[in-house]
Formats: sequence, structure tokens, C-alpha cells
Amino acid sequence: MNVLAGRRAVITGGGTGIGLACARRLAAEGVETVLMGRDLDRLREAAGDIEAASAIRCDVTDDDSVKAAFEAAGAVDILVNNAGIVSAAAFHRTPMADWQRIQAVNVEGLVRCSQAVVGPMVRADYARIINIASIAGLRGGAYVAPYVASKHAVVGLTKSLSLEYAQTRMTVNAVCPGYVETEIVENSIANIMEKTGRTRDQALAELTKTNPQGRLIQVEEVAEAVAWLCSPLSGSVSGQAIAISGGAV
Ligand code: NDP
Repeated sequence: MNVLAGRRAVITGGGTGIGLACARRLAAEGVETVLMGRDLDRLREAAGDIEAASAIRCDVTDDDSVKAAFEAAGAVDILVNNAGIVSAAAFHRTPMADWQRIQAVNVEGLVRCSQAVVGPMVRADYARIINIASIAGLRGGAYVAPYVASKHAVVGLTKSLSLEYAQTRMTVNAVCPGYVETEIVENSIANIMEKTGRTRDQALAELTKTNPQGRLIQVEEVAEAVAWLCSPLSGSVSGQAIAISGGAV
């Protein structure tokens, strides 16, 4: 029997990329998944292909939206804070609005969603918060300072919450992927092509050379780590930021 059967997970940004892969992987363990994001049609379509999945509209930057979404979701055992955005520009040309936008989704959104679930979670006999950070949370990166700063904040929050709630049965961990083959990376490739005039293959090579294994990581590889962190037997692993980067960090 799947040990996670009947557990309930919320996955923010669950309609695409890494979030969707996490939903599929957890569903394979018998977990009921609730996919959250802003595009309800896309979420519903994604949930339609997954056993025991549902879709709820949620903008993680909006207090009322998060409150209503988590009320509608009901009791939650697992929260995967996956919603995230990126932008690329030279530091001195990055408008303050970009800093605020990225902070609002990647950091404040994660705080808002976590605050919505921790109350009951600290009293539960099983609870998991898993934050999708990035290797950008473990080292610097040129031209992506707001993203790097936001993902370092995610790793810091992960470590702090794990200590704050260490006396409960809840664990808080982060996974830190390198470049994963998703829409975000497609946008990065398009960006490199536009800014440098490189071909798609050259732009792709720029990204894959950051991974010592010389390839893009697959969403299923990230989802596998998330599923392991959800396992009851990983209960003593908390406050960790697990790199999924082919050895890059
Ligand atoms: P996607 O662009 O496919 O996923 C981002 C998700 O975030 C979308 O589903 C989007 O849904 C959701 N989202 C964005 N803004 C909001 C918001 N305000 N409220 C709620 N949901 C929101 O990219 P990935 O799957 O690649 O990214 C998922 C996570 O993984 C991100 O945190 C990213 O930083 C991280 N990551 C990605 C890597 C990569 O190389 N792809 C590497 C390392 C980390 P909607 O538009 O419907 O709101």
C-alpha cells in the first residue's frame, strides 16, 4: 500500500512545469492534489489528467486570494511552494518594479501560503512544507540578481522554519534545481537568442554548460526528490536545501 495514500497536497503553480510533475508524482502515491495558480482553465485541464486532483484559482501575491483558496482547499498535509517567476537584466538596469514583482511571488507568496497552513500542521502527526528554490538559492548568478536574492531568501526561510517547528512532526525543506526543461527555461533561451543573436542550439548550450552533466534536468527528477521528502521515512530530514544540479553545487 502507498504510505501517502489519502494525504492531501497543495501545489502552487501546479498547472505547469515542475509543479505539474510534482502533482503527477504525488498522485502516483495516492495523494489527493490541489493545483493552485492564476490561470484556472489551465489548472483545470492539468487536473483533469490526474487521479483525485482539483484546481483552485490562487494568486499568491494577494492576501484575499490566498485566504479564499486555502479555505476552499480544506485540510492540507503537504504544501509544495512552487509558484515562481524570473526576470533577467543587468543589475544597474533592473527596475525596482522587477525586484518587487519577484519578491512578491517568490518570497512573500511562499510566506503567505505557508502561514495559511502551518496552524493545523504544527498539531498534526504528519506535515510537510517543500519549497522549490533553485541553485540560484545556493550561489550567485550574473544578470538575475532579483531572482538569486529571492531564492536565497527561500533557502533562509526553509532553514528558519525548520528550526522554529522542529518540536512538531512537520518538516520544512527546499529543493534547488539547476536548469530544468520547462517554460521558464524556454523563455531564458529566447532571451539569450534575442540579446546575443545566438542560435537556439548555441543558447541551449549556454544553459547546459552550467550543469557538469551537460544537460537540462527533467521535471520528473525534481518531482522525485519532492516525493521522497514527503515520505514518512524522511521525517528526520528538515531544514535542508537539496541541490538537483548534476553536481553544479
Ligand atoms: P513555470 O513557469 O512552468 O511555472 C511557474 C508557475 O508559477 C506557473 O504555473 C504559474 O501559474 C505560477 N505562478 C506565477 N505567478 C503566480 C502567482 N502570482 N500566483 C500563483 N501562481 C503563480 O516554470 P517552472 O515549472 O520551471 O518553475 C516552477 C518553480 O521552479 C519556480 O519557483 C522556479 O523558480 C523554480 N525553478 C525552476 C527552474 C527551471 O530551470 N525551470 C530551476 C530552478 C528552480 P499561473 O501563471 O497560472 O499563475
